[in-house]
Amino acid sequence: MTRITGLPPYDPQNIFARILRGEIPCKRVHEDEFALAFHDINPQTPVHVLVIPKGAYVSHADFSAHASDAEVAGFWRAVGRVARDLGLESAGYRILSNMGEDGGQEVPHFHVHIFGGRRVGRMVP
Ligand code: IMP
Repeated sequence: MTRITGLPPYDPQNIFARILRGEIPCKRVHEDEFALAFHDINPQTPVHVLVIPKGAYVSHADFSAHASDAEVAGFWRAVGRVARDLGLESAGYRILSNMGEDGGQEVPHFHVHIFGGRRVGRMVP
């Protein structure tokens, strides 16, 4: 998969855009007006779910600068709800978003990873 640099224009053919349009299947765990959550195809932990906004945002930089307050609130509420519905709250979990080339982002549609189901190591760069 090609890594993205800086803030390119939104590519409507990126894989998450295609999942949002229903062109590619996903293992959905939650959907509402603002967000879609589905299992990562290559899980790194026993629970590894991605949460993506419904809007066309390349990255967290794009989302935080250009999404409406309702979209930002709705998206982050969905992240919390998904973690709660997956039963991760008591043991804990990690949320993470890769941004741009140095952040290791591969899919150019903003997404948050939720990792859980086992203890993960302390986060170090
Ligand atoms: P990034 O490196 O933060 O951009 O993460 C992209 C994530 O998307 C990786 O963890 C991939 O395993 C995941 N991924 C790529 N294609 C699909 C798919 O079709 N369904 C679910 N997850 C995917």
